[in-house]
Amino acid sequence: MSRATRVIARCTALDRFSASPEHLERVYLSREHAAANAQVAAWMREAGMRTWVDAAGNQYGRVEGREPGLPALLLGSHLDTVPDAGSYDGMLGVLMAIEVVEELGSRIADLPFAVEVVGFSDEEGTRFGKALLGSSAAAGRWDTSWWELTDGTGSTLAEAFTAFGLDPGGVGEAQRRPEELVGYLEAHIEQGPYLEAADRSLGDVTTIAGARRFLLQVTGEARHAGGTPYPRRRDALVGASEAITLIEATARASECVATVGQITVQPGGVNVIPGRADFSLDLRAATDAERDAMWEELDSKIAALCAARGLGYAVTETHRAPAMVCAPWLRACIVEGIAAAGDTEPMELWSRAGHDGMVMGTVTDVAMLFLRCFDGISHHPGEDVREIDVERGLVAFKAAVLAVAERS
Ligand SMILES: [Zn+2]
Repeated sequence: MSRATRVIARCTALDRFSASPEHLERVYLSREHAAANAQVAAWMREAGMRTWVDAAGNQYGRVEGREPGLPALLLGSHLDTVPDAGSYDGMLGVLMAIEVVEELGSRIADLPFAVEVVGFSDEEGTRFGKALLGSSAAAGRWDTSWWELTDGTGSTLAEAFTAFGLDPGGVGEAQRRPEELVGYLEAHIEQGPYLEAADRSLGDVTTIAGARRFLLQVTGEARHAGGTPYPRRRDALVGASEAITLIEATARASECVATVGQITVQPGGVNVIPGRADFSLDLRAATDAERDAMWEELDSKIAALCAARGLGYAVTETHRAPAMVCAPWLRACIVEGIAAAGDTEPMELWSRAGHDGMVMGTVTDVAMLFLRCFDGISHHPGEDVREIDVERGLVAFKAAVLAVAERS
């Protein structure tokens, strides 16, 4: 079996650790999470690593460098999934990292750093509605208000910790300090169509977008649908609809992506003019400056169109994360890696999706290697990778690790 075949087979072998036999769903602090950790730990040990689960349920493996206790180059991704997931989002990066460690073998003992592999426990936020819990613990950015988050059955995060055998009071022990780490490298499927469209196997990630999310509220006046002539109407839903098409048109003409994913209308009667419409907006761009400029433009245009219709307009910002800029020196190592895999002028792209690296970037330097994914499909059971891309990815990832050694 080729190494790429083995990585792919292991990704799909993890599908059996699922909440449902019909589809893949593996969420934070579940029995499936524990079982997947145990399987991944067994593969880590086969590759020569010492293994442990940290105080937040993240699975680690480590091989020492040329002397024990050196700072570590951390390789990895996440092992949790969305509901009805594919087999590669997250898992591929963990299993590629283990394969690279196995391939490097005794050469790691000559490196000026230790090599660690991490399988983060919660990137997707499926269970508690809050993403990046595993890497937030590792980055020392745990927020104590999160203990009160509840899952679909009413269990709190604190209760789930205890049920998993973890001590909520000990979560601080999961924290990695900057001086313990050389950097963090993550391989991940692209989750979009750009590499495929460019006929490339691998890509060099420039930044990981930080989203801003808003709740927009348009208010008009609820009145009788039959009795109210148009000049007297202040229809909140028509105003919101105009705002939504404006958002799409404005974002399409830019490098940003903007999505309205939720809308509610009140009072919601078939024979009542909508008096109020609330809708969400998710806004992403390669840099915070582009994203913020897009928001300024949208905000003023929506305010103007609402005013023209006699509608009220109010905004609440519900989420804001800064974009994470990949470290130039680590990106140079990724580029050298991709060159070793045969592509001397790798495609650069920004990650429209969030990743553990966003949080790890607060403690150490981060870079990412993207792999082409079939038809750009992700967060779907149809998620797939080509064996040739995984093969090239392994060559690139290993060469990137050696490139880090040259620069350390
Ligand atoms: Zn992922």
